[in-house]
Amino acid sequence: METKKKESEVHEDWKKYNGIIPKVELKSGIKPMELLCMHPNLFVLFAEALQFAEKRKLPFVVTSIIRSKEENDKLKSKSNTHVEGRAFDLSVNGWRTIDISDLVAIVGRKHSGLGAISAVDKVSRPVVVHDSGYGMHFHFQCRG
Ligand SMILES: [Zn+2]
Repeated sequence: METKKKESEVHEDWKKYNGIIPKVELKSGIKPMELLCMHPNLFVLFAEALQFAEKRKLPFVVTSIIRSKEENDKLKSKSNTHVEGRAFDLSVNGWRTIDISDLVAIVGRKHSGLGAISAVDKVSRPVVVHDSGYGMHFHFQCRG
């Protein structure tokens, strides 16, 4: 069970990371300003995933953020979360199975209240790992 960090512990983390710039890689075609168009709830999920990746020295490659309705239709996406700025995709390349399942468990435990609610089964899921035809990836999604 992860407990909330005290301020002093956060500062210890900061000293350890001082000078390191977290490496967020955006797949070609993604414009940096898409990050600022993300729903604020999605930032929470983004930060959790980035801190996790940084601690385990895992690549953080964002493969999709904002999509137009047309792009979304072309990809035959069933949800509008990317169109509405409520989702981003993260590549699992270079991640071990245990890293993937640990992050899904942590995000599910800490942030289920932020997760998008499925139209199909009404379950809140802040992250799913799936292959929608373009390779396996995390799909982080928040409610509006
Ligand atoms: Zn997605």
